[in-house]
Amino acid sequence: MSGEFKTPGQSGLILNEKLLWESGRKGRSAMSPVVSGLPPVSLPPDLAGDGPDWPDLSEQQVARHYTRLSTWNFGVDTGTYPLGSCTMKYNPKINEEMANLPGFVKAHPLLPAEAVQGELRLMYELEQFLAEIVGLKAASLQPGAGAHGELCGMLMIAACHRHHGQNRSKVLMPDTAHGTNPATAAMCGYSEVKVPLGPKGFMEYATVEKLMTDEVAGLMVTNPNTLGLFESELHRITEMIHQRGGLVYGDGANLNAIMGRVDLGRLGVDVVHYNVHKTLSTPHGGGGPGAGPVAVGDRLLPYLPGPRVVKNGDRYEWKEDLPLSIGRLHGFHGQFRVLVRAYAYILSMGPELKTASDLAVLNANYIKEKLKDVYDLPFDQPCMHECVFTNAKQAAARVSTLDIAKGLIDLGFHPPTIYFPLVVDSAIMIEPTETESKEDLDAFIAAMRQVAEEVRQNPETLHQAPARTFRSRLDETSAARRPILTGDMG
Ligand SMILES: *Cc1c(COP(=O)(O)O)cnc(C)c1O
Repeated sequence: MSGEFKTPGQSGLILNEKLLWESGRKGRSAMSPVVSGLPPVSLPPDLAGDGPDWPDLSEQQVARHYTRLSTWNFGVDTGTYPLGSCTMKYNPKINEEMANLPGFVKAHPLLPAEAVQGELRLMYELEQFLAEIVGLKAASLQPGAGAHGELCGMLMIAACHRHHGQNRSKVLMPDTAHGTNPATAAMCGYSEVKVPLGPKGFMEYATVEKLMTDEVAGLMVTNPNTLGLFESELHRITEMIHQRGGLVYGDGANLNAIMGRVDLGRLGVDVVHYNVHKTLSTPHGGGGPGAGPVAVGDRLLPYLPGPRVVKNGDRYEWKEDLPLSIGRLHGFHGQFRVLVRAYAYILSMGPELKTASDLAVLNANYIKEKLKDVYDLPFDQPCMHECVFTNAKQAAARVSTLDIAKGLIDLGFHPPTIYFPLVVDSAIMIEPTETESKEDLDAFIAAMRQVAEEVRQNPETLHQAPARTFRSRLDETSAARRPILTGDMG
């Protein structure tokens, strides 16, 4: 290893790993119990017989196996993770400690309200915090993810129209929308009407106005949108939608840009979901639990899922009698311990949540300005918490967006989001978050510039990248169509 340490990706000790079945040796065991002198016990007939073919391993083999596998993983605790749209910010470890307090871990959702006053208080207060942060009236913690929050919000919009005798069958959404938006609309029985993107990267009033008819139940909008741009005409748009009897769903996946800064209620949003696993610093990814609470304004308040936690004097209780509620969306009360993390995060941040959003926006603009001379920036204007480039300047050298992403891996960075949003051809979408230091941002910028330099000098090397990782470029089509799930990995 030579040269100065510019980026964190360096080759080094990379350990290969066999399957446990290949490492086992008959008779090896993780522990040697003291000989007890008790007579051997034979298994009941239904448990006897061949049983599963478990490998025989020592404790050390098992510990090393899983520790090595963990080093093949990459997470926010490993390094910069600029995955646009996903807000991979650092999760303070204090949130984990709070979620692991024995009172929370051992609470059973069927315990009577008197036995879980602390949990109910936490839920009650968290709902209030969430509503407050976006300028809305009340919240529900039941939805288990962003997409589930969308389902909750659109079911409430449908229930509200039904209650008022309205039969509306369509939903407007910009063509920058995340795929879950049209899917949600379809699950609620609506057909989707696409609003084409305006020249500045957000929806234009005149376009939406032409599409808004009596058949339209409302608008689903992400703000800032998936290009990282603020929907600057949204205020006029929501006013017009409301005048014509529609409601507005806010997809809150990008709330990290505007916490405490933008009053969504005044902006005309009737319901918004939070992705607490993005914005409120709880673990994210790997298919683990997230949470997608929703906050609503006055119009949709009666339709919130039930039962709801209410405060009666200084006691907290469940309110079941909610005649207009869309009912339950969750077996119990939501992903409780994910919500504990969000509560701990909000309490520990307090008014600094605004600063987090300010820094998220500053960091994205810093990266945008430092890279726009070497990468094509389709919308060259101030961005919010993420910025979108393309490979247009590298395309003549036959280097794709995928090649650029793979090149970054060799320099020790997780790639940004690529090929999303779909409205931008070959997008490279970078979201640094507020938790990266200036030094880390500069190292990332240096790596992106180094990749661009490599494109100028040896574009072919990028077709082979990554070369320094445990596995080099994968045949992604075969990996998806013909996965090899057992056998030799070497
Ligand atoms: C992440 C995301 C969603 C979906 O959220 P999940 O929590 O993954 O279900 C919806 N919309 C946008 C814009 C997103 O980025």
